[in-house]
Amino acid sequence: MHVKEIDSVCTYCGVGCDIVGLVENNEIIEITASADGYVSQGKLCVKGKYGFDFVASDERIRVPHIKRDFLARNPHIAAQISV
Ligand code: SF4
Repeated sequence: MHVKEIDSVCTYCGVGCDIVGLVENNEIIEITASADGYVSQGKLCVKGKYGFDFVASDERIRVPHIKRDFLARNPHIAAQISV
C-alpha cells in the first residue's frame, strides 16, 4: 500500500513543531520532523515523535459526551439532539 506524507503541526505543546505524518492504510505509522522545519529545526521531542498511539486506540472516545446538567439548563440544545 502507498505511504502518504502529510504535513501538519504537533499540538502537544505551544511550540508548534512542524511535523510530517507517514500514513499507510489510514493509520499513522511514523511521525518525523519536517526536514526544513522552521520551528522544529528538523528535530522533535519524545512526545511529538512517538505520542500518536492514542489516535487508533480502542479506548478513544468517538462520539461527543454532553453532561445531562448542561442539557437540562439548555433545553433548546437538548431538543436538537437525541439522547
Ligand atoms: S514536538 Fe515536542 S516541543 Fe515540538 S510541539 Fe510537539 S511537544 Fe512541543
